[in-house]
Amino acid sequence: MCQVEEDYQHALGRADLPSASKKCVKCKEASAAVVIRAGDRYCRSCFQEFFIHKFRAVLGKTRVIFPGEKVLLAVSGGPSSCSMLRQVQEGLSHTAHKKLRFSPGLVYIDEGGAVGQSAEERRRTVAELQVVFRATGFPFHVVPLEQVLDLPASVVVPGASPSERPASAYKAAVDRFIQSDSSTRRTAPEETTAPDVQESHTHTLQRLIGSVKTLTARDDLLATLRQHLLVHTARSEGYSKLMLGDNCTRLAVKLLSSISLGRGAQLAQDTGFSDSRYGDVTSVRPMRDYSAKEIAFYNHMFSVPSVVTPGLDTKLQADFPSTVSTIYRTSEKLQTAARSSSAAHLSDRCLLCMCSLDTAAEKVSAFQATLISEQLSQTKSPAAPLNPGPRSAAPSGPSCCAAGAEDCGRAAGGGSCCSSAKEPQTGDLRSLLCYSCQLTVRDMSSVEHLPQYILSEAQRRQRRSQMREEITEFLLDDGDDGDEGD
Ligand SMILES: [Zn+2]
Ligand SMILES: [Zn+2]
Repeated sequence: MCQVEEDYQHALGRADLPSASKKCVKCKEASAAVVIRAGDRYCRSCFQEFFIHKFRAVLGKTRVIFPGEKVLLAVSGGPSSCSMLRQVQEGLSHTAHKKLRFSPGLVYIDEGGAVGQSAEERRRTVAELQVVFRATGFPFHVVPLEQVLDLPASVVVPGASPSERPASAYKAAVDRFIQSDSSTRRTAPEETTAPDVQESHTHTLQRLIGSVKTLTARDDLLATLRQHLLVHTARSEGYSKLMLGDNCTRLAVKLLSSISLGRGAQLAQDTGFSDSRYGDVTSVRPMRDYSAKEIAFYNHMFSVPSVVTPGLDTKLQADFPSTVSTIYRTSEKLQTAARSSSAAHLSDRCLLCMCSLDTAAEKVSAFQATLISEQLSQTKSPAAPLNPGPRSAAPSGPSCCAAGAEDCGRAAGGGSCCSSAKEPQTGDLRSLLCYSCQLTVRDMSSVEHLPQYILSEAQRRQRRSQMREEITEFLLDDGDDGDEGD
């Protein structure tokens, strides 16, 4: 592996050295400076043109972002999102050939607290990014991940999506934008700097992350919390689009892990160009046609600064471009087949990742097998309902173990009851989660570490489904009567 990484470093170093024997495949005149894939050799200026064109082409072709729309760019400080930021800057400049017409803002989620960075390290990274952000002139927001602890439960409720706009609406929006466009449009950039992070919040966050036993599940949880915070920031700041820097290398890794985690049903939303599972805020991934290697070359040749070093997946995949593109092409094919899942009812969404619940199809063997083994291992303490039932007091009040059941002993001893609604058991949450989020939660030592907004929404859904069940019984009886009448 070391050998592979070294070669990669050499390749980067050589990037702008002309190789006399090879010509650019595009202009067929200049010497090639970059080899993206075998046979794809570009000179410096053709590579730049190719790179920039791809970005504007994907936005133009998909027509997901409307002219004048507020778009929040999630910039992690890594090469991919920093390259995305540069593309947006280039696209908005007056000299741009095909000008981008949306109104960008930037957000950085500071996850330092979750991964054990010192306050000093975090301040340094934020300061470095602020220099980059200020230079763009775009409004920006620095948000510590600790803020996830204060999110409202509405974050995990899909917003009302704007009704499907007809194709002509895009054209009309372009015309309107051009009419109102002038160089004085840009307002003074607003900065929202991070509020001071309370140490107790950092500890709570660390306890939450630390309660997850496996690395995969930890990454998964971290990604979920980050996404919730991004969506919340977009909503509260009035952005209707969230632009993510996922490149095709990362998406290929995500695709493989999604498959291994059983996220088959969500593949299209997880890796596609646009993702509308939150309803009112749509995520777009304009970098999904770029490989990590391509981005590294571009950033190196055109001095795009990045603050954070690339993650493990980028390094590991850097030298397997053909594998990555094969996987990636597979995901393209999956796209259409899985799209229908996005049309599922809004209330049947996973509590954590907001994808359509795939667990309703209980015949799925992997899911069924897990469920059965879970049930067998839990026969001693069957999962108590989150809300002990209609007869019990308010959910937050002291409740004894499910009404009518045996006393847990602890209540009598003055301690809190074991099925106190304040601390839902893992089993209770499970019905609200998709298969893969169930696996993540199963790896947690206790769900009580989950942020309050998730637990509150869990209780709300549990109560609602309980109510629905009671009503359904009623309705079914009615239906039977009707049948008899026929
Ligand atoms: Zn050329
Ligand atoms: Zn999920």
